[in-house]
Amino acid sequence: MELLFATANVHKYKEAQTLLGPSVSIIMPSSLGFTGDIPETGLTLQDNALQKALFLWKTFHIPCFADDTGLEVDALNGAPGIYSARYAGEEGNDTKNIEKLLCALKDFPVRTARFRCVIALVQQGIHTFFDGVVEGSIAKEPKGNQGFGYDPVFIPKGYDTTFAQMSEEEKNAISHRKRALEKLSLILP
Ligand code: IMP
Repeated sequence: MELLFATANVHKYKEAQTLLGPSVSIIMPSSLGFTGDIPETGLTLQDNALQKALFLWKTFHIPCFADDTGLEVDALNGAPGIYSARYAGEEGNDTKNIEKLLCALKDFPVRTARFRCVIALVQQGIHTFFDGVVEGSIAKEPKGNQGFGYDPVFIPKGYDTTFAQMSEEEKNAISHRKRALEKLSLILP
């Protein structure tokens, strides 16, 4: 089956295609000629994921899904959370987001955190949610150059390297999105 994924992020596209396997063909909106912004104005990860998936459903009328991820840092009462992408003000500036996070955490000895991912699937106008969490902690300084986003400062629990120091396969085996995608895969044909 074909499944439209509300992303322009090639890392995410590859991760989803690998995890969902050959029986599902993941399509990016850009391959259907859509290169605009998908609205994302909700107040929760669920709201945002659903808003993005419904937007694509209404535009293309094919089964689609969207994900939304937040990095929840305990010492910051769960921030940046839903605002993770624009934590430093500018949407998608990973370097500035990491700088701001390390600065906010500099006096905190406890640096536990988690990535939480919510996926909304819309088929025939009906939606279903799937979630995935990976626990970990925030490193004192960025390390590694793989991946994207907060990967250089996120050390998953039980490891001593950041996501950005892992190969794509190692990260994908334990990631928050993998855990949510696994749940999604269980209901696909
Ligand atoms: P989005 O919901 O995927 O747009 O992600 C929200 C924020 O979390 C953005 O700043 C992303 O870069 C970051 N993010 C999402 N997934 C990951 C990940 O797997 N590793 C590191 N950062 C991530």
